[in-house]
Amino acid sequence: MSNESLSDKTLSIDTRNIKQTDCELNNFPLQELKLTERPNGFQLVVCRSVLNQMKEHGRTSMHAEVGGMLVGNLYWDSEPFLLIKASIIGKYTDGNVASVTFTAETWNHVWQEQEKHYPETNIIGWYHTHPGFGIFLSRMDLFICEHTFNAPHQVAYVYDPQSEDEGWFIWKDSIPIKMKPLVIEDVPALPVTVQRENTLLQAAAEKIVITPKDTKQKLTTLLVIFIITSIVLFLVSTFCLTYLTTKSTKMQNEIVQLKQNIKELENKFKITEMQNEIMQQLKRDINELDNKFQHINSPLKYGEFYNIKTLERLLIVPQEMSPSSNVWILNKEQNKPSQRHLRQENQIYPQK
Ligand SMILES: [Zn+2]
Repeated sequence: MSNESLSDKTLSIDTRNIKQTDCELNNFPLQELKLTERPNGFQLVVCRSVLNQMKEHGRTSMHAEVGGMLVGNLYWDSEPFLLIKASIIGKYTDGNVASVTFTAETWNHVWQEQEKHYPETNIIGWYHTHPGFGIFLSRMDLFICEHTFNAPHQVAYVYDPQSEDEGWFIWKDSIPIKMKPLVIEDVPALPVTVQRENTLLQAAAEKIVITPKDTKQKLTTLLVIFIITSIVLFLVSTFCLTYLTTKSTKMQNEIVQLKQNIKELENKFKITEMQNEIMQQLKRDINELDNKFQHINSPLKYGEFYNIKTLERLLIVPQEMSPSSNVWILNKEQNKPSQRHLRQENQIYPQK
């Protein structure tokens, strides 16, 4: 089976144009793939060991492209599937930063290796690396695909040893498009490189970087916290103010009450003073009265005058003592004044 027999120039290069006659009959490796059902359409099946080989090769050159060939078989069960069995390092290539060129020497070496180690296989594609510039097919890569690997089942694999990204390309409508392969895990996958870990850490760090959205969210949170704090402070201060105002009003009322009490006491004191004054005045009046009656030398009537002094509810004192004047004496028993005409007692009342 040659590439020429698979290339029908009248049809577009497309996995859908693979004919059963171009394939070997074989069972789909369901068990190896740990699948219960065969996925529909053309399938690309690759062993983990092959992926490891290509990656190990790629990691030997972290800044310049390297590449090689893929060998395997095109099979048919109900539909075609491509089983990639090995990769062969493309020695004697002209590798530089952005391209890889397979020389005649490269092809000689590849054919020798294939014949020696994988005699039952065909060259079914190629691989190369893109150290640090991602997974795609450049103009030169497309040129290689179109002129060297242009059978509808032939594939291309690109690997970036710096980012550990990888991609498979198959033919569809004469354009290489990406396709996810089915991997037979025949060996453990290669551990992630230190550089890959750095890349992952960098990616994580980039995620941590505050985006404007985060800033907006943080500002909103801060604003909400500020508003809540303000409301709480306002409520607390209002409560305190109300409490203090109430307390102050109460104290003011108490002060007013106390002032009133003091005033009342003062008034009472004044009244007492007035009463004292009245009493003093009365005492003076009585003394005066007493003095006026000092010259009355009557043992009989003298005692009666003394009785007048002891009466609390006094007291009618004559304006002027004369033989014709009357002295009104409060009668204790009847509580009304009784009259005694002094003229009737002329014999004891001395003449002026
Ligand atoms: Zn390339």
